[in-house]
Amino acid sequence: KEYNRVYNFSAGPAVLPEEVLKEAASEMLDYEGSGMSVMEMSHRSKVYDKIIKDAEADLRELMNIPDNYKVLFLQGGASQQFAMIPMNLMKNRKAAYIVTGQWAKKAFQEAKIYGEAVEVASSADKTFSYIPDCSDLPIPEDADYVYICENNTIYGTKFKTLPDTKGHTLVADVSSCFLSEPVDVTKYGVIYGGVQKNVGPAGVVIVIIREDLITEDTLPGTPTMLKYKIHADADSLYNTPPAYGIYICGKVFKWLKKMGGLSAIKESNEKKAKVLYDFLDESALFKGTVRKEDRSLMNVPFVTGSEELDAKFVKEAADAGFVNLKGHRTVGGMRASIYNAMPIEGVEKLVAFMREFEKENG
Ligand code: PLP
Repeated sequence: KEYNRVYNFSAGPAVLPEEVLKEAASEMLDYEGSGMSVMEMSHRSKVYDKIIKDAEADLRELMNIPDNYKVLFLQGGASQQFAMIPMNLMKNRKAAYIVTGQWAKKAFQEAKIYGEAVEVASSADKTFSYIPDCSDLPIPEDADYVYICENNTIYGTKFKTLPDTKGHTLVADVSSCFLSEPVDVTKYGVIYGGVQKNVGPAGVVIVIIREDLITEDTLPGTPTMLKYKIHADADSLYNTPPAYGIYICGKVFKWLKKMGGLSAIKESNEKKAKVLYDFLDESALFKGTVRKEDRSLMNVPFVTGSEELDAKFVKEAADAGFVNLKGHRTVGGMRASIYNAMPIEGVEKLVAFMREFEKENG
């Protein structure tokens, strides 16, 4: 059967590699001779144990994760981490937050439930269209950690250099830039992300956490399920994990390895983003909304300046097979999310379509 696939620019859940989807489909009824689908098998079975162990090993290889970091496959989405982080890390009940968008703000507000969350920088003054200078932040001496959202999905900004945390533990939400380029894991205490953008199906959140941050000493009242130690001690099998989702993530890790790893995928992402940004920079109709040096490789917001034209563009683009280009409901305009699995042809064809639209409407 030939499928009628669209170019899907959704911010998440988002496009996954076709190869991965096809392989998963071919294994749906009988995974490697087990006679069942991965979603039907016990998470304690030998065959599943290999799936989750291989997934972890491949992720470790891709990201070059040192041995003193644990990899946890958890549930509850990235939003659950907004609470789990303070519950587990706020020993002094104090933490510094850099507020660069709605997701950072949500994490900041959640942390306030548990202790003193201090906003040490923000880009709210210009609708989060840039990354603030983080070279000399007023971080309280006794802050337990410094929190960032490394790539801001809604606004399309990305930290190109990490903030100077002045020796404090760095915690980063990388949901929308996960595995899009190499990272130096040793610079972070915690890196976490929901996988439903670059890595797999919604329902899995991956937490990479330095071992010394995993302790019994959580805030009073922390539910068992929200303790990192419980999950770390059980290798993510304390309870039934999001088993099928982890299996798909594992396939995406293998796909990334085949593509040449994170340096290669970064190169491809830069090439892809350049096609779109170069067009935005020359277009008389479409304009990027982000300060150039802070532009994300993954999420590209743009506007025409007219709400009416924006709506017309989104509709005509969808009719032509370029879907989910509407900007986030809180900011309007357009946003093209061009995650790892978006082929460059998708971006080139989108730009060609934008050129035509500009001719007719400019
Ligand atoms: N953080 C970032 C950067 C996001 O883009 C999102 C969702 O889109 C979230 C957190 C929230 O993720 P979840 O829906 O998995 O809780």
